[in-house]
This record gives sequence, C-alpha cells and structure tokens, in this order.
Amino acid sequence: MNATDMAVISVKNLSKRYGRIIAASDVTFDIPKGSIFGLLGTNGAGKTTTFKCMLGLARADSGMVLLGGAPLRPKTFEELSYVPETSALYDWMTGRDHLEFTRRAFRRYAAGRARELLELFGLDPMRKAGKLSKGQQSALALTMAFSIRPRMLVLDEPSSGLDPLHQRHVLDLMIDAAAGGATVLFSSHQIGQVERAADHVAILHQGKIVVQGEVDQLKASEKIVEATFDPHVPALDGLDADPNVRRVMRNGRMIRAFVRGNADEVARRINVASPTSIRVLDQNLEDIFVAAVGAQASSAAGREV
Ligand code: ATP
Repeated sequence: MNATDMAVISVKNLSKRYGRIIAASDVTFDIPKGSIFGLLGTNGAGKTTTFKCMLGLARADSGMVLLGGAPLRPKTFEELSYVPETSALYDWMTGRDHLEFTRRAFRRYAAGRARELLELFGLDPMRKAGKLSKGQQSALALTMAFSIRPRMLVLDEPSSGLDPLHQRHVLDLMIDAAAGGATVLFSSHQIGQVERAADHVAILHQGKIVVQGEVDQLKASEKIVEATFDPHVPALDGLDADPNVRRVMRNGRMIRAFVRGNADEVARRINVASPTSIRVLDQNLEDIFVAAVGAQASSAAGREV
C-alpha cells in the first residue's frame, strides 16, 4: 500500500494559471487520515488557488484531486467543511439562522456541538452576521464548520482576525478533530501555529511546493551552520553551490548556511577559514521557511509570513 492509497486527501500535479500568472504549478501532496497538514507560503504563493481548485471553486488546468479516496462529487460535501479566507456569511442572517441552514444541509450536524462552539467563541447566536466583528464572523464560520463533525476540513487561514485566545481554540479544535480521525488541511501565515498543530507541512512559493514533509523529520534534518569571522567573512568559494546548502546568508562578520542533512561537512569547510566561533544549530520551521523562500519574506514580516 503506498502513500496515496492511505491518503484521505490527495492532490497530484495540480496546475492553474490566471492569464500570465502561474498561481499553482505541479502542486502534489498526500494527507494521511487523521493528519493535520499546514500549508505555508508568502502572499500570492497559491494557497487559496490550491484550495479552490481542490474544491471545484476554480477550474484547474491540469492535475487530479481525490477527497476521501474519490474525485470531488456532491457526496464529498456531506463530510467536508471548507472555511474560505473571506467571509461567506449572509449579513442579514443571525448566527442561529446560519446554524439552522447548516443543520438542514448536513446530515452530520450536531446541535449540542454547535452550542458548545458558540459558547467557546463567546458568540451571541441572535446577532446578525453583518453586525459581527471580523473575528466573530470567522468564529461563526468555524462554528458551522466544526458543528457537522466533518471527516475532512479545509481551512483557509482559519485564525485570521481572531484574538490569541480564540486562535488557541482553533488549534485545539483541529487537534481534537484529527485525534477523532478527521483529516485537516489548513493554511496560515503564523508559523508558530503551524509548528504547534501540524504534523505535516508544505511551503508554497510562486505556485510551487518548495519544501514538504513531516514537521519533526524536517526539523531534525535541517541544520544551520553559523560562524563569525574577524574582521569579515572570507569568500568561502563553492559553499553556495554545495547541493546540501539551501541558502547562505552573510551579514557583516557572520555567515549562516542553511543545510539539508549532515551539516558536519559544511561546518568543516567553513572551519578551514578559521572563524572566531562556529556552531551547528537545529532549524525551526521559521528557519526552514526563510531558507526555502528567501530572507526577504521573513525580515519584512517577523514571524508572520
Ligand atoms: P495570500 O496569502 O495573500 O492569501 P495565496 O497564497 O492564497 O495568498 P492566491 O490567492 O492563491 O495566493 O493567489 C495566487 C496568485 O494568483 C496571485 O498572484 C493572485 O494575484 C493570482 N490570482 C488569484 N486569484 C485570481 C483571479 N481570480 N484572477 C486573477 N489572478 C488571480
């Protein structure tokens, strides 16, 4: 049995252009049952496009998507919750109306669960959606999404606009859903959240997946060799071309080489040039992101990407 056979969500070679813009290019990933898969990427990287193509809301130019082991069909939506990036609520309807709508549309709707979620997010079900704050609208959309006890969840920046407490609730809901066997795909600009909740991650850049894998394995296999020199970093010929070196950043007297796999050989090469200090560090997800998409994105936005 290969990874695709076991995958509940499987995306193969998905590509989509908007005119001259390549929004998704050969995007391929599999998500096993009960996994939480985090999709990271800079603005415009293609995350929303990937979700829309997966769910038939945009037409892919090529590629294949299997949800619950089958191509998208009306039945898929009985057990799948999608929360889009922008609000899909009706301004004139109350929270209670939206939940009634959800009850009628989904056989798996659980009224008790919906009540718990309203309470968790501190939502007044009698208020019209148009009168809710952006964060409260997100919370209502999430209440609807989780109230149907979905087997698959596709969440496009689910905690955008939520306060830190409610963001934590969303992570807990995803973790709880996955522990109960649901398969979760979500995008986020908050690397810390992805690191906390996701067991698998992919980083999209300009429509292409540049890194993907199990979070723990990626972190264990990616290292940084950091060295300082006096008075300045020497040329270190050939270091940038080393196939195991993803990126080299030089900043005054310091050099940081982002290395895939065994970092000892890279450390040895740098050591030959007699640095004043040298150390090998494990990478966290933010380092992996920076190495994959460039320093520009991270310095512009801190821990948010
Ligand atoms: P963000 O993090 O900013 O939400 P994203 O990773 O979700 O970004 P997408 O919304 O998928 O990115 O956009 C990918 C690219 O496709 C961008 O360059 C965007 O401008 C373009 N794009 C998306 N939708 C359309 C559309 N309907 N028509 C034309 N171009 C589009």
